[in-house]
Amino acid sequence: MTDARFATIADIRTALRSRTTSAVELAREHLDRIARSELNSFVTVCEDDALAAAREADKQIAREGQSGLLGVPIAHKDVFCTAGGRTTCASRMLAEFVPPYDATVVTKLRDSGAIMLGKTNMDEFAMGSSNENSYFGPVSNPWDATRVPGGSSGGSAAAVAAGLVPAATATDTGGSIRQPAALCGISGLKPTYGRVSRYGMVAFASSLDQGGPMARTALDLRLLLRHMEGHDPLDSTSADVGPTPREADRVGLRIGIPREYGRDLDARLGATVDEAAAVFEGLGHERVEISLPHTAYATAAYYVVASAEASTNLSRYDGVRYGHRTESPADLDDLYARSRSEGFGAEVKRRILTGTYALSIGYYDAYYRKAQRLRRLVRRDFLDAFAAIDLILTPSTPSTAFEKGALVAPDETKDPTVMYEQDVYTVPASLAGLPALSIPCGIVDCLPVGMQLIAPHFGEDRLLALAESFQRATDWHRRTPAL
Ligand code: GLN
Repeated sequence: MTDARFATIADIRTALRSRTTSAVELAREHLDRIARSELNSFVTVCEDDALAAAREADKQIAREGQSGLLGVPIAHKDVFCTAGGRTTCASRMLAEFVPPYDATVVTKLRDSGAIMLGKTNMDEFAMGSSNENSYFGPVSNPWDATRVPGGSSGGSAAAVAAGLVPAATATDTGGSIRQPAALCGISGLKPTYGRVSRYGMVAFASSLDQGGPMARTALDLRLLLRHMEGHDPLDSTSADVGPTPREADRVGLRIGIPREYGRDLDARLGATVDEAAAVFEGLGHERVEISLPHTAYATAAYYVVASAEASTNLSRYDGVRYGHRTESPADLDDLYARSRSEGFGAEVKRRILTGTYALSIGYYDAYYRKAQRLRRLVRRDFLDAFAAIDLILTPSTPSTAFEKGALVAPDETKDPTVMYEQDVYTVPASLAGLPALSIPCGIVDCLPVGMQLIAPHFGEDRLLALAESFQRATDWHRRTPAL
């Protein structure tokens, strides 16, 4: 058996079933590791509630045995509302915010018996690719503390990679599950848009935001998805499609390799993805070169659409109803202006400004409408490709984890679009609403490399099955940082 710190959910379920451990023991061990960790991956730790829930779980296991996620410790990205427990979105704006209700994902995972240990750090309002935009400070990558874990779900990714929790929730608007999963050497799934309820998930860009799981294996992702997905009448964009099925493994799948996805890639990362393609060939699948001709426009279109939606979504933070309120405002305008100026960080302000600009009269056609057209073309590229292939294989990121401070500067002297280019391989599937995952496929310079698999809408089953078969054939997902 491997190091207990890096046990999978499947391992943990087996241990709980054979009573070699208890939910309380597991919660204590993980809370202990969280307390000793210096990664800054948690914003809030819920020790008392977690231990109380674990005691209940142990009673239930004694009565009925272990099932579902009963007794399994997890963490939630601090973008999911937790009733009675602060939900900050890593923003000063929400630093004191205590939601009156739970997100659907939180409710569902609690109903499955999972034990929430705390809320994980992230980029403010999920805007960023390095977790350096957090009001609570940056998160360190467990493989190398001088490097970023990726973002925006950097806290969840680092916590899973470091063995602080076996799994965590995260959200992905343009790559925030897949990119940090890749940079931290874990597995992460962004489901099809609409598969997982957005109710109670603090909104960034509503037409793109999607919650999903992070874990150590694709098998665990499947288990978590089962307890996160499902139609939710409280979310009008939630899809009424029934649970992700589990088909028998198939051979002879046609795996498309888009020729546009090598552009900004470190050649050594390209080689690992190439070797992954060879593994799939060895498993009886076929490699097919494909073209997704509008890929080059995806990042620009994404940053216009996402910022436009963010500018309207974030208008709710006015200092009146909830969130940060400035001291002794002179009048209502001053209340709005100063509450927002003080409450939001630099990147959030940049998105609000560019988004408002893109939506304003006179610029709407030039920016927002054009970006929407490009979004449609990117989506059509995928749908055309999927007429002839089953899945798409790409790198997850253009590089491995980069140094903290390399792409952002506190004095705002760095070009923000360099950071935005970190998302080149993840945003196209986001724009198209497609399910995609990242799993480890190599190590370069002692840092993990991730590959991305993209499936047609609601094709999570095929996606996970292929990822599971890769993880049966290789052991990249078992590599762990030396802590
Ligand atoms: N890095 C991208 C951004 O900053 C994606 C973020 C996300 O998926 N939440 O917008």
